[in-house]
Amino acid sequence: MEEMFSVHYGEVGLKGKNRVFFEKRLANNIKLALRGTGYAEVERLHDRILVHLGQHANTTEIKRRLRQVMGIVYFELACRTERDLTAIKEVALRQLQNVCYESLKVETRRTDKTFPLTSPQISAEVGGYLIKETGARADMHNPDLVCWVKITQDGAYISTEKIQGIGGLPVGVSGKVLVMLSGGIDSPVAAWQMIKRGAKAVFIHFYSYPYTDKASLEKVIELAQILAASNYRSTVYLVPFAELQQIIVAATPAPFRVLLYRRMMTRIAERVATMVNAEALVTGESLAQVASQTLTNLRTIEAIADIPILRPLIGEDKAEIIEKAQRIGTFDVSTCPHQDCCSLFVPKHPATRASLTELADAESGLDIETLVENALNNLEKIIVG
Ligand code: ATP
Ligand code: MG
Repeated sequence: MEEMFSVHYGEVGLKGKNRVFFEKRLANNIKLALRGTGYAEVERLHDRILVHLGQHANTTEIKRRLRQVMGIVYFELACRTERDLTAIKEVALRQLQNVCYESLKVETRRTDKTFPLTSPQISAEVGGYLIKETGARADMHNPDLVCWVKITQDGAYISTEKIQGIGGLPVGVSGKVLVMLSGGIDSPVAAWQMIKRGAKAVFIHFYSYPYTDKASLEKVIELAQILAASNYRSTVYLVPFAELQQIIVAATPAPFRVLLYRRMMTRIAERVATMVNAEALVTGESLAQVASQTLTNLRTIEAIADIPILRPLIGEDKAEIIEKAQRIGTFDVSTCPHQDCCSLFVPKHPATRASLTELADAESGLDIETLVENALNNLEKIIVG
C-alpha cells in the first residue's frame, strides 16, 4: 500500500499540444509549491497528477499548499493497493479510522474494464464489508462519508476526502502581466485574479519616500510574498516617485494631479512591461469607486498607453473585493495604515471629468521622456517567494 495525493484538473478546452503544455506546467508548479514538504515525486499520468509522499512528508502542509495551486479543480489523499478485492477492503477500512461518520457510501469507477467485477458490484462488496466492520449504516443519498474506489490498470486507489482546489489555469500558461501594486486592498486581488487565469505576475510599486514613510514598501513586499504562494518566485520593481511628484505639483493645477500621477505611473510601467516581456498592465481599479476611476478618467489614463490595461475588478463592488481579499489572505496586510503616494499634494475634490486636452495642456510644461528615463534609471528590483 502506498499513500499519495491524486490531483485533478479541468480539461475543458484542452486538446493536443495545449494539454501537454498545461499538464507539464501544472506538474512543475506543484513541485515549486511543495518545496520543503518532504514529497518524493510528482508524476504525470494521462488524466491526473500524482504526488508521491516521502517517509516524512507533511501531509497537512501539502494539503494547505495544494489548495493554493492554480489549475487544480480538486485533489484527494489516496491509497494505492493491488487490484484485489480483499486488499481494497482492508485499505478502505484503514482509511476510515480517525474519521467521524454514522453513514457511508462506496462509489467505484473503473477506467480498466478488464477487472472482473463491475463498478456497482465492487461498491456493494466493499460497502457491505465496511458496514459489517464499522457498524455504520449505508446511505446512498446523503451519507456522512463517501469512500471512493478507482480501479485503473496500475492498481486500485481508495480515498475518503475530495478537497476542492481553486480551479483556473496553471500559472505561466497565459503569459506575463505587470501588476501595478499599491499597498491597498484592490490591487492584490486584481493580481490574484490574473494569476488564477494562468498569468505570471510581475509587480511594480511607486513610492513617495521621503514624503511618506517606508510602510508602503514593506506592505507591497509582504503582499507580493503572500501572492507568491500561487505566483511562486516573483519580481517586484520599486520606483521612487517623490521627485516626479514634486515636479508635477510645481507645474500643474491641483485638481488634475491624481490623474497626472497615474498617467506618469502608467508610462513608466509600460516601459518596464516591455523590459520584462509583459503583455499587459493590471490595476485594481473598479468603476467609479473613487474620483480617478470614473469612465472619463480611466479613459484619460488609457489614452497615453499602447499596452492593454486590464482591470479585473472593474465590475466588482468594494464588499466583494474585501471578501476576496480576506479569502486570499491579503486583507490584513492591505488594511495596515500607510500613506498612499497618490494622496500626496492632492485636493479634497479631484477632477472627476478631466478632458484629454486639459490633461495634455497640464502636461505641456513637463519633459515627459526625461522624467520617464530618470525613473527607469532609479528602478530597484526585489525577488520574493
Ligand atoms: P488599491 O486598493 O489597489 O490601492 P484604490 O481603490 O486605492 O486601489 P487608487 O488609489 O485610485 O485605487 O489606485 C488605482 C490603481 O492604481 C491601484 O489599484 C493600483 O493598481 C494602481 N496604483 C495606485 N497607486 C499605486 C502605487 N503607488 N504603485 C503602484 N500602483 C498603484
Ligand atoms: Mg490605493
